[in-house]
Amino acid sequence: MTGNEEHYIQEAFKSNWIAPLGPNVDAFEERVASYVGVGHALAVSSGTAAIHLALRVLEVKPGDTVFCPSFTFVATANPILYEGAQPVFIDSEEETWNMSPRALNKAFKDALLRNKLPKAVIVVNLYGQSAKMDEITAICNRYGVPVIEDAAESLGAEFQGKKSGTFGKFGVFSFNGNKIITTSGGGMLVSDDREAIEKAKFLSTQAKDPAPYYLHHQQGYNYRLSNVLAGIGLAQMEVLDERVQQKRKIFDRYKTNLKAMNFMPEIKNSLHTRWLTTALLPPGSRMGTLELVEALSKEQIEARPVWKPLHTQPLFKGCKYYTHEKDRSISDELFKRGLCLPSGTGMTEFDQERVIETVRTMLKPKVQLEFKPASTLVMKDDSLLRTGEQG
Ligand SMILES: *Cc1c(COP(=O)(O)O)cnc(C)c1O
Repeated sequence: MTGNEEHYIQEAFKSNWIAPLGPNVDAFEERVASYVGVGHALAVSSGTAAIHLALRVLEVKPGDTVFCPSFTFVATANPILYEGAQPVFIDSEEETWNMSPRALNKAFKDALLRNKLPKAVIVVNLYGQSAKMDEITAICNRYGVPVIEDAAESLGAEFQGKKSGTFGKFGVFSFNGNKIITTSGGGMLVSDDREAIEKAKFLSTQAKDPAPYYLHHQQGYNYRLSNVLAGIGLAQMEVLDERVQQKRKIFDRYKTNLKAMNFMPEIKNSLHTRWLTTALLPPGSRMGTLELVEALSKEQIEARPVWKPLHTQPLFKGCKYYTHEKDRSISDELFKRGLCLPSGTGMTEFDQERVIETVRTMLKPKVQLEFKPASTLVMKDDSLLRTGEQG
């Protein structure tokens, strides 16, 4: 929190707008829309709800397919299941860690042959880095399939001078507690299509038909954002750009001081927010990611593995998956060696130095002296015994 949140919450209390509508909700929508440069915005209760509404407006139905990256948080794909549709998973590429245009192309060609084009393509911008939205939207346009840009992790990021979340038919943001700014829980659906946002608003408020009594033709939801929480969002928007700079500074310190790790790239003509600093362990590292996460946890340092690819999740067993290269799955490679380091903007420089020192020590090859009964001194390089690979 920044301190200014209470002012907006007070406003909500003073005006007695304690409801999923009110002046803070309107103002928050306007703030986000003008910040990213998009025509219309709808504040909702979560990023997941925003994705769900986008799929409903695009009329995704049971039996339809939706393309979706494999390397992402499960919230990207769950709403596809809500509608009884099937996700088809697309691999990542090394340059962005996001959706591989090459794998996407393969999936489209195959879908065309089967006469089953997807109803929508969801693209995700992970950890603050935009996917190659120019190539991806060009491919989707060629097939006439709308794009939903899941920018839950990339608010504030840019690609080719445009804000993340504004490249598709719909953009989605999240204000969950772990995101770069938060309302404790919340989300936003954005689009340049006014009618589409109005349709989403209708569905998000129980799909009440205009009538003097309660009349319903369609299934709706209770998905609007509270006016109290929107007040928190207004104050948080004031510090978004500063947060991006702080996050990037945290990243720079890691990168400068942990030379052994391979950090997530920032592609040309883009601004990576570095929401989370993520990196790959060096090949042949003494510890695997899970071992390192556990060892750091013993030092009171919270690190996490990167997202486990969705095509490997029991929940999505049997779903199709298109890899970046024949016989090579980039998302699996990223998962094997990828790690998220502590990246909170509340972390002090001293805290971060301690993280850096601890990780450095843990990654150092261990050389042990072992005494044998015959008093022969044997050097044992532990790194030869442990490959650092997981299951
Ligand atoms: C957080 C997140 C979501 C979901 O947002 P919620 O507000 O938590 O529902 C969706 N996609 C990605 C990639 C996320 O990281």
